[in-house]
Amino acid sequence: MESNFDVASIRKQFPILEQKVYGQPLVYLDNAATTQKPRCVVKRIEEAYFSHNANVHRAVHLLSQQATEAHEGARVVVQGFINAAESDEIVFTRGTTESINLVAFSFGEAFCREGDEILISSMEHHSNIVPWQLLCERKKMVLKVIPINDDGCLLLDEYAKLLGPKVKLLAITQISNVLGVENALGPIIELAHKQGIPVLVDGAQAVAHRPVDVQALDADFYTFSSHKIFGPTGVGVLYAKRFFLEKMPPYQGGGEMIDQVHFEKTTYNQIPFKFEAGTPDFIGTAALAEALRFIQKIGMDNIHAYERQLTDYALKELGKVEGFQLLGNIPDRHAIIPFQLKGIHAYDVGMMLDKLGIAVRTGHHCAQPLLERLGTGPCVRASFAFYNTTEEVYRLAAALRRIYKMFN
Ligand code: PLP
Repeated sequence: MESNFDVASIRKQFPILEQKVYGQPLVYLDNAATTQKPRCVVKRIEEAYFSHNANVHRAVHLLSQQATEAHEGARVVVQGFINAAESDEIVFTRGTTESINLVAFSFGEAFCREGDEILISSMEHHSNIVPWQLLCERKKMVLKVIPINDDGCLLLDEYAKLLGPKVKLLAITQISNVLGVENALGPIIELAHKQGIPVLVDGAQAVAHRPVDVQALDADFYTFSSHKIFGPTGVGVLYAKRFFLEKMPPYQGGGEMIDQVHFEKTTYNQIPFKFEAGTPDFIGTAALAEALRFIQKIGMDNIHAYERQLTDYALKELGKVEGFQLLGNIPDRHAIIPFQLKGIHAYDVGMMLDKLGIAVRTGHHCAQPLLERLGTGPCVRASFAFYNTTEEVYRLAAALRRIYKMFN
C-alpha cells in the first residue's frame, strides 16, 4: 500500500501502542469501541489538574477563570470542528448515549404527543434505539424502523414510504458501528425536511474518520463521544440547532442550568447552559479540545484517505484467508470490518486473537436487532484508526489463518 501518511511518527504519540501483550507487540483493532489517547491529551489532563483546577463559571479567582476559559474555549473548538453556526449550539454531555437520551427526553416533552411516531433505522446502536423506546412508552407513541436489504444497506424507497405527518423525528446513524456502511445522509435529511421532520444524526462512528460539517448536512441534532475521537472518557457532544434548544425544556435540574431559583418558581439559564446541570467535566472538555486540535493538525482529509486505503487493503488481505466470511455487502466501508471464521465461534476467534496480541471486539456490538436481521449471530469486528498499519493487518490475516488451521 502506497501512502505519504507518516504513520510511524503518529504512533510515537500513542505510548500504549508500544507495549506487548502475552509477549506479542499489541495490535489494537478495537477503535470503534474506544480509541487510544495521544500524549498531548493526557498531558493536558495532568496540566489542568496540576495548574488550574477550579470549578468553572462560579468564582472570581484566577484559577476558576482559567478553567472557565479552557472549558468555554473547548466549546469553540468543537464548534469549529463540526462547523456549527454558533458555540451556543454545542452542549457538553457524558457521551453519545447521554446526548441521545437528552434529545429523546427534552424534544419528546416539547414536540411529541400520544400517537406520534419516531423513525430510526435497522442498523442503530442500542443507544439510538432504547431512548426512543422509553420515549414511546412514556408518551404512548410508535417507533418505526427503516428496513435494510440483505447486503446491509438501507432501503430508501421504504424509508420514503415511512415518512408522514405523524413522524416527529428521524434518528439515524451516519456510519454503522457493525458494518462500517455510511448512510446517504444528504438525500435522507433532505427528504425528511421536505415534510418538516427534524433529523438526529448519531455521529459516534463518523467524527473520527471523515470531515463533518453539520451545516452542510443540515442535521438538526448531531451527537458524538470524546473517547471515540482520541479524547478522554466521560465527555460527549450534542450539537443542536438553536431553534430546538430554545424550545426544549431542561433535561436535568441543578446548578449551572438556572437563572433564578425561588421556591415558588425557577427560571432557566440561556442555552447551552440550560442543558448542562451540575459541574461539567471541564478537564475532560479541555482535553477533548486538545484531541481535536491534534487531529486537525494531521488533517481530517488525510486521515480519511489513509484509513480508506488501509480498509481496502485489509479487505483484500483478509479476503484471501480460508474460512473468512465478511458480513454485509457494502460498496464502501469506513474503517470497520465485521466477519466470522467459518465454523468457529466469534468468541473463540476473539480469544485466540487476544493471545496472539490482537485486540478485536466480538459479540453483537450493541446492535442486536441488526445482527438478528442479518441472521448471523455474534461476529468479530476489526476496527481501525489512523495509527494502524498494513503490518498490523498482515498480522491479523496471519493469525486468522493459524486459528482456522487449528480448528480444522
Ligand atoms: N452510537 C454508535 C454508532 C456507537 O458506535 C456507540 C458506541 O459504540 C454509541 C452510539 C454509544 O456511545 P457511548 O457509549 O460513548 O455513549
